[in-house]
Amino acid sequence: MQTLSYTRWALYHKCPRSYLLDEQRKAQVDASKFIVGRAVHTLAETWDGALGQMLAGADDCLRATLNKANLNWSGARYDKELARAKKLVIALEEPLRPIIIQDCKREEWVRKTVLGVKLRGPIDILVPGVIYDIKTSTDTKWLKVDQLLFYAWLAGDIEVGVFITPAMKKKLHYHRMYPAKLAEVELGVTKAIEGIRKQQFEPVITPGCGQCDYRQWCVGRAVPAQ
Ligand code: SF4
Repeated sequence: MQTLSYTRWALYHKCPRSYLLDEQRKAQVDASKFIVGRAVHTLAETWDGALGQMLAGADDCLRATLNKANLNWSGARYDKELARAKKLVIALEEPLRPIIIQDCKREEWVRKTVLGVKLRGPIDILVPGVIYDIKTSTDTKWLKVDQLLFYAWLAGDIEVGVFITPAMKKKLHYHRMYPAKLAEVELGVTKAIEGIRKQQFEPVITPGCGQCDYRQWCVGRAVPAQ
């Protein structure tokens, strides 16, 4: 293992067995299901104009993202996903507007090396002391504060982490980046690196196992599917 992303770390941190099963199965994952999210994300990060320009850009962004992933969509599926991307753009425009006019950095990669493993993460919008992470899902239950903490720890000198989402009620979610929490991340990352190197992949049984994508392959599963 030469690199470790937030996603890989979070999987190991939650359940080492799910990390192992994910490693074994990730080649089979349908990458196309992330395409619309990626396209909207790229668009939001490069946008500094009016909503009309953003909507016009949604088409280009979706095409560019599909090309990058070597996917060839046309017809009804393309139209449906483009409509979805535009809906997301409209929902994100209002919370993004006041932030994006500030003097900020976008798509800023932050890096650290721990025990010889390279860690890195993309910060969507960075202003002094604050990181903003854009989420395209309307479902706020998927917001992981650990992700903000991981990026804040990589970046250093961050006081607040903020999620920007298209959710109807709460569009911005602020979280204070306490030093003790950042120290926990450092400890968790160190433990994960050591555990992966020692091939320690024990299952961790929790009520969350019912929603685990890998429960049917998990020899340690004790919780029935919900
Ligand atoms: S079912 Fe539970 S124990 Fe098994 S991999 Fe998933 S989270 Fe881990």
